[in-house]
Amino acid sequence: MILYKATVTLKKDIEKIRLSGKSIGFVPTMGALHKGHVSLINISKNKCDITVCSIFVNPTQFNDPTDFEKYPSTLANDILLLENSGCDILFLPSVAEMYPSGTKPAIHYDLGDIEYILEGKYRPGHFQGVCQVVHRLLDMVNPHYLYLGQKDYQQTIVIKRLLQLINHAAKVITVSTFREDTGLAMSSRNLRLTAEQKENAVSISKMLHYIADHYLDTPPAQLEKYATNYLLNNGFHKVDYVSIAEAETLQPVNDVTKAGRLIALIAAFISEIRLIDNMILKG
Ligand code: AMP
Repeated sequence: MILYKATVTLKKDIEKIRLSGKSIGFVPTMGALHKGHVSLINISKNKCDITVCSIFVNPTQFNDPTDFEKYPSTLANDILLLENSGCDILFLPSVAEMYPSGTKPAIHYDLGDIEYILEGKYRPGHFQGVCQVVHRLLDMVNPHYLYLGQKDYQQTIVIKRLLQLINHAAKVITVSTFREDTGLAMSSRNLRLTAEQKENAVSISKMLHYIADHYLDTPPAQLEKYATNYLLNNGFHKVDYVSIAEAETLQPVNDVTKAGRLIALIAAFISEIRLIDNMILKG
């Protein structure tokens, strides 16, 4: 695996790879890698000649400074995992390398309503920050395929929109959520949970299954209330949302019989650690 820290050298080599006719798959991450990230690398490796992974904890997408400061970092282990999974290129830029003119946004991305609901509502500015960094990374890595996890479902919608806005031809491949045997979605933030908190965290996927089993015969509002109360009674301290939504727009659904594709999404806190997960109900 080749490690790049400088954008100039990365860009030059990417150009050479493209000119040689090879396909490039890209997996952007914030590090503290786990099996979920590795599944994205593996899927990219199966399809593409060259797989690029980036590790960059992007300051502009954190609306909560403590969350940014406490974001886990396990770089030595990350490099080992990437080497073992056969990743070809690791891009590891510094903040100065990514934001040479400072982190203040130069562009406002017109993302539409998706920017302001669910994650957007509870993490104001988050998706502008995501677009800021992904736009830069796309300029640098210029991939044919962009691998994203379904775990961050709203982010996949936002990034597809970004690709349209900036006219980038990369194709998004959404990879299903990799879970622990307990059902807990793998997440870098799980590293911050104590053993007891990790046991409680399983309640999110339990509630997603509960919703999947009951959404056809129980009104969405009732299920959302049930799941919220369940989480609050099982170790969660705050629930940002439990939402049964239309899968393309994430707008809430009142009558599931009239809806098309449906998804259930949850964001909730254990102590100050915010966890998210989702499940497609009707695909
Ligand atoms: P992150 O490092 O958390 O920003 O995630 C980098 C990429 O990995 C994003 O596209 C995530 O959606 C994806 N990802 C994170 N957790 C998982 C998981 N458990 N299963 C599959 N993909 C994941």
